[in-house]
Amino acid sequence: MRKIVVLGSTGSIGRQALDVVEESSELEVVGLAASSSYKLIEEQASRFNVTQVALTDDQAAIKLAGSWPEGDVLTGSDGLSKLISSSDAELVLNAIVGAAGLMPTVVALTEGRDLALANKESLVIGGDLVTQLAEAKNAQIIPVDSEHSAIFQLIRGERLSDNPGTVEKLVLTASGGPFRGLNRDQLSDASPSQALSHPTWEMGGKISVDSATMMNKGLELIEAYHLFNVPLNMIEVVVHPQSIVHGMIHLIDGSSIAHLGTPDMRVPISYALHFPNRAELPLETLDLSKVGELTFEEPDTETFGCVGLAKEAARDGGTLPCTMNAANEIAVGLFLEDRLPFLEIERVVAETMERCPSRPIESFESLYAADAEARIAASEFAKVKIGASD
Ligand code: NAD
Ligand code: MG
Repeated sequence: MRKIVVLGSTGSIGRQALDVVEESSELEVVGLAASSSYKLIEEQASRFNVTQVALTDDQAAIKLAGSWPEGDVLTGSDGLSKLISSSDAELVLNAIVGAAGLMPTVVALTEGRDLALANKESLVIGGDLVTQLAEAKNAQIIPVDSEHSAIFQLIRGERLSDNPGTVEKLVLTASGGPFRGLNRDQLSDASPSQALSHPTWEMGGKISVDSATMMNKGLELIEAYHLFNVPLNMIEVVVHPQSIVHGMIHLIDGSSIAHLGTPDMRVPISYALHFPNRAELPLETLDLSKVGELTFEEPDTETFGCVGLAKEAARDGGTLPCTMNAANEIAVGLFLEDRLPFLEIERVVAETMERCPSRPIESFESLYAADAEARIAASEFAKVKIGASD
């Protein structure tokens, strides 16, 4: 049995991961963590006979401790670290959303645990520090993001980083999100509920909005850059609305290999949790004649500027990707509360990147500082915009 800890178990990825565990004869959950959903996490603990959970929200942790006296409830961000370090799990699934996922990524890798990584933000922010830590501790990062899982599988057997290598390009596919095909005029009054209704994937609120602005693909570009350690110009983005092809590699001999599958996150989650093995999942085999058409188009970079911002952040490096991510989290949060127009998300991110200069990353502390600085700048800038449009 492989023992795992599931961080972010109450979210979209976390819940699907627990469904994967239920189908598997090889996985055992030994720890669960979330921010505040104490009722759901109590149900999950009893469903998987877990005795130790962490809730970062103190009030929620107190409530859970009251209703679940037989369990061990840890709290605060220290609780998250303790959950990881005191468990005997060999694998940690990090399915926390946002920059809050960086610290547990660092703790898991420092402890030498393998990491099934859904929290793309920790690679975007931490970049080389995270990959170097994994290498130093001989811990493996196995991507959960569907595109990265696809490429991770495709490059096995290829020479990626050797010179000369066998891979010319990595291709990340993007669904294009709910607003594909619209122009900026049409997007000026786009509402949170429109942004949240994704055509092909069921996801948490933040990543759904990221998908609508295409910042998700920007984050994924930086994620791929660090995960696969290739030059930025080796990574391409192509829009593929059916979300059947998840990733592709172009090789030096003129052949290209693609990874296909039904858009269902249980597939990459299962792959990451069982790696290097595969386990059976109760899914229908892909029937391409039913899908009918697979189409591909170039991203509309005029309407959706976030991929360009992410490229700039990756090129400049240092703390800039961290700044970009923090500004995006602030802007997306305000948009979801109906306090910032959709198109302002990109503007707030761009302005914050201009205002907060990139600094070299000396330690994880310099990242936490850049994150805090960017959040203040983004909030101020967003307020100016809210005031102006009131
Ligand atoms: P979600 O909002 O549904 O769930 C987030 C989870 O994180 C919840 O369990 C929540 O309690 C927990 N959480 C939030 N803040 C926390 C904090 N400060 N401390 C501890 N726990 C905290 O999000 P999701 O859609 O499941 O996405 C999770 C991550 O996976 C994101 O980084 C996202 O980009 C990535 N991802 C998601 C999908 C998807 O299909 N949903 C696909 C690829 C990658
Ligand atoms: Mg993805």
